Amino acid sequence: GRGLYRQWGISPRPEDIVSSCLQALYDTAGKNATPNFRRRANCGQIEKLWLTLYANGKKYIKIGSRKRMGVIPLEKPKYKRVLLKISGEALAGDASRGLDFHVIGQVCDVVKRCVDLGVQVGVVVGGGNFWRGVKDGGDAMERVRADHMGMLATCINALAVADVLEQKGVEVRVQTAIAMQAMAEPYIRSKAIRHLEKGRVVIFGCGTGNPFFSTDTAAVLRAAEIDADVILLAKNIDGVYSADPKKDPSAKKYSKISYDEVLAQHLAVMDTTATS
Ligand code: UDP
Repeated sequence: GRGLYRQWGISPRPEDIVSSCLQALYDTAGKNATPNFRRRANCGQIEKLWLTLYANGKKYIKIGSRKRMGVIPLEKPKYKRVLLKISGEALAGDASRGLDFHVIGQVCDVVKRCVDLGVQVGVVVGGGNFWRGVKDGGDAMERVRADHMGMLATCINALAVADVLEQKGVEVRVQTAIAMQAMAEPYIRSKAIRHLEKGRVVIFGCGTGNPFFSTDTAAVLRAAEIDADVILLAKNIDGVYSADPKKDPSAKKYSKISYDEVLAQHLAVMDTTATS
């Protein structure tokens, strides 16, 4: 192990470590060895790395390093680029209004883990924990202005999520569909893609930038624009149901459902523009 360790020098790249280990394993255990990497619990953190390689049920190589280095991406991520939609209510936790920084921290931990695995993450945030145009503005206000307020609410959330991610050491850029240059970059597709390629999380604020739309639609739009492999919806519900389970206890949860069926059955899991 020590010889191998020396051969990497001061800051070995994770892929060099893995390929060196494999080579050494094949040299020692023969070509039929089935490698099985096991990481100690603390591996994957920045400060310490311990890697143990098992083959044919025997421990072959164990490497320890206290040098600063990044995470070894031994788990191969399924998606390269994802668009995560976080609804406003999901950021409010049980309170359903305002911001719950404990919950935001948990969401950001997952985002960080994905980024550490090499996944490119774009995020669209909702604003329902502060203001929804139709629900909160209702008849009291003109619809367009009420929607403007909703879009501003999404920006409050975008800045909160950005701050928590930064505290966790993740690089972030906020881009807004309506320019507010003192606080965030304007949305520019090519710049967003560039940030993602550099491993930065991009948070898209202000929804689509247009009234009469929702942040679900913004999520679908941005996902298509940045060519995301998948859209992940983080809502205050754990799946698609035949009815609202809070109101109808007989509501059935679907394990799989097509977009056409969601539309045909008028399921309100996301708004119809986003679904179609
Ligand atoms: N909104 C808008 N255009 C958009 C996205 C959002 O006008 O493209 C406004 C709208 O008033 C909406 C509010 O912003 O009610 C908050 O967004 P949303 O309701 O989608 O938030 P979520 O339910 O995901 O928290």
